[in-house]
Amino acid sequence: MAPSIVWFRRNLRLDDNVPLDAALRGHESVVPVLVLDDQERDEDVSPPRLRFLAESLRELEGELAARGSRLLVRCGPAGPALAALARETGADTVYGHDDHEPHGRALAREVEAALAPQGTRLRLLPDLHLVPPASLRTDAGRLYTVFTPFLKRWREADKAAPRPTPPRVPTPDAVLARTFLSIPLSRPRVLRATGAPANPPGGAREARRLWDRFRRTALVRYAGDRDLPAAPGTSRLSPHLRFGTLGVRRLLAEARDAWKEADAAGRASIDVFVSELAWREFYASILAEHPRVLTQSFRPEFDRFPWVAEEEAEERFRAWRDGRTGYPIVDAGMRQLAHEGWMHNRVRMIVASFLTKHLLVDWRRGEALFRARLADGDPASNNGGWQWSAGCGTDAQPFFRVFNPVLQGERFDPDGAYVRRWVPELSAWKGAGRNLHAPWRAPSPPVDYPAPVVDHAEARARALAAFDAIRGAAGAPRR
Ligand SMILES: Cc1cc2nc3c(=O)[nH]c(=O)nc-3n(C[C@H](O)[C@H](O)[C@H](O)COP(=O)(O)OP(=O)(O)OC[C@H]3O[C@@H](n4cnc5c(N)ncnc54)[C@H](O)[C@@H]3O)c2cc1C
Repeated sequence: MAPSIVWFRRNLRLDDNVPLDAALRGHESVVPVLVLDDQERDEDVSPPRLRFLAESLRELEGELAARGSRLLVRCGPAGPALAALARETGADTVYGHDDHEPHGRALAREVEAALAPQGTRLRLLPDLHLVPPASLRTDAGRLYTVFTPFLKRWREADKAAPRPTPPRVPTPDAVLARTFLSIPLSRPRVLRATGAPANPPGGAREARRLWDRFRRTALVRYAGDRDLPAAPGTSRLSPHLRFGTLGVRRLLAEARDAWKEADAAGRASIDVFVSELAWREFYASILAEHPRVLTQSFRPEFDRFPWVAEEEAEERFRAWRDGRTGYPIVDAGMRQLAHEGWMHNRVRMIVASFLTKHLLVDWRRGEALFRARLADGDPASNNGGWQWSAGCGTDAQPFFRVFNPVLQGERFDPDGAYVRRWVPELSAWKGAGRNLHAPWRAPSPPVDYPAPVVDHAEARARALAAFDAIRGAAGAPRR
């Protein structure tokens, strides 16, 4: 019987892996491969992400070896690389995961075109989400563009059970031979990126560790704690969901088990956690159906928005990027991002709102910086989060609701632990009193911390005037 190829991309695990499971059920032996050209060719791929990828691949290689197999690594482009591997091994089918991202879809078309002439089949299976992106439709057949009705349908939708971890991964002897071509993981330059010590570590074992700890402790308090950036209140699984070092079906099944054991408040928290997974799937659906959002505002009138002109934008952008806006919660978030390659969700919303509404800098610049710095950088969720924060996306925070960074700080970081952790000028400041989130109000502000780059009230008024301009231009009623 012909072997099959399992093409690993953003599902870097053996447990709950749909393509691997399907390949093992349908074939006596499989050839696991990763093609290097895809996840790491973007010039702006962040060092934390490359480090995460390299660590996850090393672990996957070890896990496959422990099950009698081998992870082959080949150079792209993926089409010719997979076609050649199929000819070398006699494989008749390539299994991989379905992709909702424009890049992944183009890749799938290229691979199919390369395999078809030689009679090799490509089977792409839903693996990255609980419900395939863009599959849930309204009665009129339209995509949901408002989250609440989407969530209702998403909760009702059938979801597959997790697939088991295979005890063995039978692989042809010829592929296991040392002479069979595979690039050592230590060789590609991109996989040698070291990132920084504080970046999230990769690998399925780390995902399991994080999830077990979160499930035992914070999950049942998630509804209350998830908005407090100083608390260990969220799972930190986002890079693992991005690279697939934890299966989403496994995550849901174990969250449901925890729900059965929890009291009423715990159950409510677990429901909120599951609804966050649905946000991820909502944004994946939006990207699948409307790939234009990667470059354009979902609400077209925002593409006429009077973002600040380039020169001024540059200066403001730099203050924001470097965590020197003079607003402690904004600066703490941007410094956490630079240091860890991760930022708490509440603070992501605050800093994104600040860049777009206080500084009137185009959301696409913020989105690009996040992409270049986040370990969990995900085109759909990043774009969705930015467009939501800027007020131009689906189901967005209305533009005229402008977060006040001082009040946000006081509400979500009431004792200032988060700000003090990330902004050393403020942690050393003795005269903070009740002014930690608005240092300029103190009788003696810290000397080494910047004054605010904009005044909140003025910035808000300017943002609303800019918004009124596009509302008027669109012929829509003014606020
Ligand atoms: C401006 C902005 C940019 C963002 N960029 C990204 C990004 O590039 N990649 C990314 O994974 N998330 C992004 N998010 C969503 C969210 O901030 C992160 O998923 C979350 O902070 C990750 O932390 P966690 O794993 O501890 O989340 P938890 O609170 O533990 O949630 C569990 C999982 O649910 C998903 N999730 C939670 N909140 C959201 C959300 N609002 N939107 C989509 N999925 C969500 C994530 O996969 C997350 O790992 C962005 C949000 C904003 C406002």
